[in-house]
Amino acid sequence: MADAGHAINTPGKRSPDGEREWMFNNEIASGFETRMIQYKDAKVERVDDRTGVVDVPLAERVNKAVRLGGKAYISFHHNAYLGVWGSHGGTETFTKENPSTASLALANAVHPALVKGYGLKDRGIKHTNWHVINHHHMPAVLIEGGFMDSTTDIQVLRNKDKLRTAGALVADAIAKHYSLVLNTTTALQTTKTMNRTHKIVPGDTLWSLSQKYNVSVKQLEINNPETIPHNLQIGGLLHID
Ligand SMILES: [Zn+2]
Repeated sequence: MADAGHAINTPGKRSPDGEREWMFNNEIASGFETRMIQYKDAKVERVDDRTGVVDVPLAERVNKAVRLGGKAYISFHHNAYLGVWGSHGGTETFTKENPSTASLALANAVHPALVKGYGLKDRGIKHTNWHVINHHHMPAVLIEGGFMDSTTDIQVLRNKDKLRTAGALVADAIAKHYSLVLNTTTALQTTKTMNRTHKIVPGDTLWSLSQKYNVSVKQLEINNPETIPHNLQIGGLLHID
C-alpha cells in the first residue's frame, strides 16, 4: 500500500517557489512502484488518487489499505519548515509512537535506502501519530524525503531521476526486508531508465504500445498519470519508461 501525500492543489504543501509537494511525492512513489512490481508476488496499491486531482481523505486511504489486505503501508511526503528558503534540511522516516516491532523493523529497513537515495542529511527515524501511520493494523511508515524550503534539499527534489532512484532503492530495501525475489522476466530491465517517449498515432492502444515497447500496460499507466485512462490523444506524447 502506498500513497503520495496530499494532491496537486492541496493548500500549503508547496515550495517557496510554488512547486507542489505532490509532484515530488508522486515522483518517488512512481519510482517505488515501478521497481516494486518487478518483484515476484509484490503488489502495490496506491490508496491516494494517482492523478493528484483528489486529495483522498486520510481515513479513506487507511480504510482502503485495510480492506485490500495490505501487508505494509508507506506514505511518501516532503517536508517544509517555515515556508521560506533556509539552510535546514534532511531526510526522516516516521512510525507512530510506540510502534509495533514490525513497523519499527520496516522503518529500519527503509530509512538507510532513503538517506542513500537522497544523499541529504540523515535526520533519523522519528515517531508521531499521524493518521495514515497510526490507524491500521499493518506495518506503516511515512517518509519525509527532504525539505521543500531548503536551498540544499530542493536541488535534489527538483531532480526527477534522483527521486525515482530513491523510490527504487526503497522498493529494493522493502523487497529485501520481506525476502522477495525479482521476477526473472523483468529482472533484466531493473533500474535502467531509458526515458523513451512515443508520439500517439491513430490506431495506437495501450495494449499495442505495451507489445511494441515490451513494457506492461500497468507501467504505461504509472508513467502517464495525467494521460491515462482519460484519453490517448493523437499526437500526444506517452512516456514509455
Ligand atoms: Zn506532506
